Amino acid sequence: MGPRLRGRSTLRTILTPMHTLIRFAFLAMCFGIVSSSLAATPPGVSYDSVAIRLLESGLRNCEAFQMLKELTSHAPHRLSGSPDAARAVDLTKKMMEQRGLNKVHLEAIMVPHWVRGPVEEATITRSTSKKGTKLTICALGGSVATPKRGIEAEVIEVKSFEQLRTLGESAKNKIIFFNRPFDPTKFNTFETYGGAVDQRSRGAVEAARAGGVAALVRSMTHVIDDVPHTGAMGYVDTVKKVPAAAISTLDADMLSKLLLQEKNIRVRIQLTCKTLPDTPSANVVGEITGSEKPDEVIVVGGHLDCWDKGQGAHDDGGGCMQAIEVIQLMRKLGVKPKRTIRAVMFMNEENGNRGGKAYATAPERAGEKHIAAIESDRGAFAPRGISVQADSSVLAKVQAWRSLFERMYADRIFPGYSGVDVSAIVERGAAGFGLDVETQRYFDYHHSDNDTIDKVNPRELELGAIVEALLCYLISEEGL
Ligand SMILES: [Zn+2]
Repeated sequence: MGPRLRGRSTLRTILTPMHTLIRFAFLAMCFGIVSSSLAATPPGVSYDSVAIRLLESGLRNCEAFQMLKELTSHAPHRLSGSPDAARAVDLTKKMMEQRGLNKVHLEAIMVPHWVRGPVEEATITRSTSKKGTKLTICALGGSVATPKRGIEAEVIEVKSFEQLRTLGESAKNKIIFFNRPFDPTKFNTFETYGGAVDQRSRGAVEAARAGGVAALVRSMTHVIDDVPHTGAMGYVDTVKKVPAAAISTLDADMLSKLLLQEKNIRVRIQLTCKTLPDTPSANVVGEITGSEKPDEVIVVGGHLDCWDKGQGAHDDGGGCMQAIEVIQLMRKLGVKPKRTIRAVMFMNEENGNRGGKAYATAPERAGEKHIAAIESDRGAFAPRGISVQADSSVLAKVQAWRSLFERMYADRIFPGYSGVDVSAIVERGAAGFGLDVETQRYFDYHHSDNDTIDKVNPRELELGAIVEALLCYLISEEGL
C-alpha cells in the first residue's frame, strides 16, 4: 500500500458522514469537467474520487448490459467449435474495436467440438403406474451417443460412488441413477456444487466400472424444476465409454419415489450427441496500453464459450462484457493507467480450458510480465468482494484498499480461487483475483435453458465491471 493511500485512510476516520456527503455532491457536480480533463490521475486526485466517478459513469448507462444483450441475441449457444462461438469471436472483436480498445486481435487456438444432436429422450418402459412417462433429460457435455434405438435397462439409484461399489453384481447392465442432491444447509453455493458435481464429471466412468450401461445424473441445482442442467463429463481410456445424461430435479425426485414403490423399473435413453474433430477458434484480446510500464500486464477476463443450453448470459457472457466495460469506463473517464490493462475473452473454459492455457503460453507473452489476472465467472450478480489467489503480502495490500470498495458493498477481500481461465497465468506467477458475487441464484440458471439475458440485472452486472475497473486501476497505479 502506498503512502498516499495510508494518509487518506487516516483522514477518512475523522471525516464525518456530512463531509463525505458534501464531497460526494461536489464531485458529482463537477463530474463532467473532472472526467474530461483528468489524465493519469494528477496529484490531488484521490483514489476515492476515481472510485466515485467509475461508479457514476458505469451506472449512468450500464453499457455492459447493452453489450450482453447483443452477444446473447446474436450468439446464444457458444459451445466451443460451434457456429455461435465463431460468431461470438467476430462480434466481441468488433465490440472492442468500436469502443477504441488498443491492439485488438485474435489469438488462434484449436478447440474440442462436441455436438448435442437432435434426439435426447428418456422414457419409463416398465412400471405399473408410470409406464410411457417421459423424463426430462439432456446429454452431458462430452457424452457418447447411445445406439440408434437407445439403451433400455433397469434403473438403480445411488447417492455416492462408495454406495455404487457396494452393489457388486446388482449394478451390472443397469442404468446407474446418481441422485445425491445439493446440500441445502450450506451457505456457499459453490461449496454445495463442489459436493455434488463428481456425479456429473465422473459418473459415467464409475457407472461403467460397476458394469452399468449408462449414467443418469441429477441436475446440479438447488431448484426443483423441469429443466435439466448440462456440464462437462469425462472418460478414461481404460474404462468403457457409456452415455451420460442429466435429469431434471423434478423427474429425479419422481423417479426416486417410484423406485421405492415398485421393483424393476426400466427406462430407455436415446442420445445422438457426437464428438467431431477439433475446430479452429480464438481468444479475443484488446487492451488499454500502460502509459508508464506497458509491458506489465493486468488481465481481466471471462470465458466467451458457454454450453449450448440457454444463452450463457450469467456463465459467462456477463464476465466477458464486464472486461470490455472495464476498459471502456477508463477510456470514458480519461484514466490512463500506468500498466497495461488487457481484456481477454477466453475460449473453451467449459470443456477444455484450451484458451486459458494457450494465452498463458503464447509466443506473444514473451517480453511481457503479467502481474495480475482477474476473472469474473461466478454469475453476473451484485459484487460482494474479491477473492485473492496470491501470497499474503499481496492479500494484505489489496485488503488495505478495502474501504474503496465499501461504496459498492464489494469490500469482502479474502484468500480464495481466481478462475479457471486465468489459472495458467496465475501458475506462471501472476496474482489471481476472482470477482466474488452474490451467488444464491447462480445454480438456478447454470448450464441450463434458464441462463438467459432476462435473468441478468443491468445494474448488478455493471457494478461487477466497476469493481473490476477499480481493482485494475489500483493495481495499475500501485503495482503488487
Ligand atoms: Zn463459467
